[in-house]
Amino acid sequence: MTTPGTALTAPPAASLRRISGFTPTGRLHLGNLLGAMVPTVAGQDTPGTVVFLSDLHAFTVEHNPATTRATTIEQATLLLAAGVDPDRSLFYLQSQVPAHTELHYLLECATGVGEAQRMIQFKEKSAAQHQVRLSLLTYPVLMAADILLHQSAEVPVGDDQDQHVELARDVATRFNARYGATFVVPRAVHPPTAARVMDLADPSRKMSKSAPSGGGTLFLLDAPDVLRRKVFRAVTDSASDVRYDPAARPGVANLLEILSACVGRSPGDLADDFDSYGPLKAAVADAVIDRVRPIQRRYADLAADPAYVRAILRDGAERARIATADTIHRARTAIGLL
Ligand code: ATP
Ligand code: MG
Repeated sequence: MTTPGTALTAPPAASLRRISGFTPTGRLHLGNLLGAMVPTVAGQDTPGTVVFLSDLHAFTVEHNPATTRATTIEQATLLLAAGVDPDRSLFYLQSQVPAHTELHYLLECATGVGEAQRMIQFKEKSAAQHQVRLSLLTYPVLMAADILLHQSAEVPVGDDQDQHVELARDVATRFNARYGATFVVPRAVHPPTAARVMDLADPSRKMSKSAPSGGGTLFLLDAPDVLRRKVFRAVTDSASDVRYDPAARPGVANLLEILSACVGRSPGDLADDFDSYGPLKAAVADAVIDRVRPIQRRYADLAADPAYVRAILRDGAERARIATADTIHRARTAIGLL
């Protein structure tokens, strides 16, 4: 019989497993690339990377089934094009591994309604909708299940996800305390710059897949001339010199941070290279186009063979089912199932 703190002697050793999820709510953009895809791909150099498409999360807001399917395959293909390597990473679709939803339910039984209602993204996204889906409220608990299912120690995310990772920590800690050591308690990790790429048309908002934007989102599959046009239309301010001052001049700071992430120099240092906005925007446009060009080329090759991408996903799901079987068994037993 399982009693708190006894039958399960210790959680699995805190592995270096890192997990990244991408929701097929819209087309992947530069914020996703710099904030999440680049660190994820770099992390593959050490074993333990999990990359999955959180397709179930796409249903938390209004969606069109055919569009969700098309976006899912586009995102999977883009992730492979950007360097996700299915031989080194566990790469799959959340919906093809039922342990995610099974653990979601168990964790809901260790989460307070108030905790879910406090989530900033829930408040923001629900304020923008007429009929809010219950799944939008409980989605951070499914995200906690995504993370805890893999005993992930680190979650590389943009800082918009900090609060959700914090919830996963709280739920893991509580579950372990009540039912015995079951989960590794995870923490968020961020890349040094461009952890939060802002919308070019409204630098007070983060660049986003699903929020409507007035042309301020740089999609990874945008043609070079489209990317250039969007960068040139980026909101700056009325000052004429170029300084890195995120609080007073967020639009310019965002451009400098994007450039910084693309060329590997600090934003403050880069500001000294420019004395007006025109040349800065030209440099940002060139850097972004150079950054996405090889990804777009590989995407075109892979997109020609969608059956190959689907086979990779099926194989990944099979491996994920095996890799998570032990954790789901431990969680079921700990909470009181036969
Ligand atoms: P949505 O608007 O549907 O929430 P999203 O653009 O926020 O879409 P997600 O699928 O929620 O994208 O997030 C995928 C990953 O990209 C997460 O790790 C998230 O932190 C990161 N990310 C999303 N937007 C940005 C951004 N503007 N800057 C940096 N990282 C980001
Ligand atoms: Mg998001």
